[in-house]
Amino acid sequence: DKLRTFPKERFLFGPSPVQRLPRLTAHLGGAQVWAKREDCNSGLAFGGNKVRKLEYVVADALLQDADTLVSIGGVQSNHTRAVTACAAATGLKAVTLQEAWVPYSPPLYDKTGNILLSRLMGGDVRLNSEGFHIGPKASLDVAIRELHEKGAKPYWIPAGASLHPLGALGFVDFVVELAEQETALGLFFDTIVVCSVTGSSHAGIVVGAVLEGKGRKIIGIDASGKPKNTKEQVTNIARNTLALLDPAASLPENAVVLDERFHAGIYGIPDEQTKAAMRLGAQLEAFITDPVYEGKSLAGLIHLVQSREISPTSKVLYVHLGGQPALNAYSDQF
Ligand code: PLP
Repeated sequence: DKLRTFPKERFLFGPSPVQRLPRLTAHLGGAQVWAKREDCNSGLAFGGNKVRKLEYVVADALLQDADTLVSIGGVQSNHTRAVTACAAATGLKAVTLQEAWVPYSPPLYDKTGNILLSRLMGGDVRLNSEGFHIGPKASLDVAIRELHEKGAKPYWIPAGASLHPLGALGFVDFVVELAEQETALGLFFDTIVVCSVTGSSHAGIVVGAVLEGKGRKIIGIDASGKPKNTKEQVTNIARNTLALLDPAASLPENAVVLDERFHAGIYGIPDEQTKAAMRLGAQLEAFITDPVYEGKSLAGLIHLVQSREISPTSKVLYVHLGGQPALNAYSDQF
């Protein structure tokens, strides 16, 4: 109920679809596999997990009278595309810093896919050569100073909207929405598999599951290549979000599970296991995933079901968080 008190923009079509994957289920020969499709959640520039998070974050920006959303990501960031999309749809401007987080630059990497969409939507896209780190960023200081000098009112959104106090609320919503869909379908997903990198999608689902108290198991699949940091970040975000919603609640030990076997050793680059999972989903179900995020979490799902680490009597929900626009920038992998 506390969740309903936070101001929220409406960027989604409504509840995102929940879908059976019968051919994948039959192929894997274990648990029944379903998906909830955040990649089809919105009409704003192909949607995805960030659009759900930004319903709360952009509402806060509007309350603060901001006129320019400022954010950061890699060259093929889905997040900066989603920030630019939500800005366009709200009449705001967007400045996005696009850094060299991935040591990969095939032809057109900085011209196609997500970054093309941001340019098309009128985003102020600023490429720079910084690698991934969480220290101070000169490019960010320059952008904010420039905006202030112009009399603009910038609003800063951290990477993935994750280290934003409201960043995980959208994925607490996700669990509330899912529970309504389960009631309508007459079933219950005892296990949820979700990709985790900046952490607030995973953390929001963990908090949603803790608050509903039905004992679901949430399995995060690391795609950051730095699972120790990611697990710490997910845990911190989950604690802070839980405190925001129910100060009396505490995060149970072991609520944050992060499987480290599928990240291919590095953020942003697929390995053979990633690509095999992408091909399997595409060829059995026309279920399209990207090589940076969902291909890795799909590899995790496939292994967990096939090996029966997830019980064959389970109903498992794979959360498809989006990200397909990046595929075009990775055509040389296929
Ligand atoms: N899947 C896609 C398509 C993404 O764009 C992201 C963004 O980082 C993730 C998964 C990971 O989500 P989060 O950053 O909330 O951990």
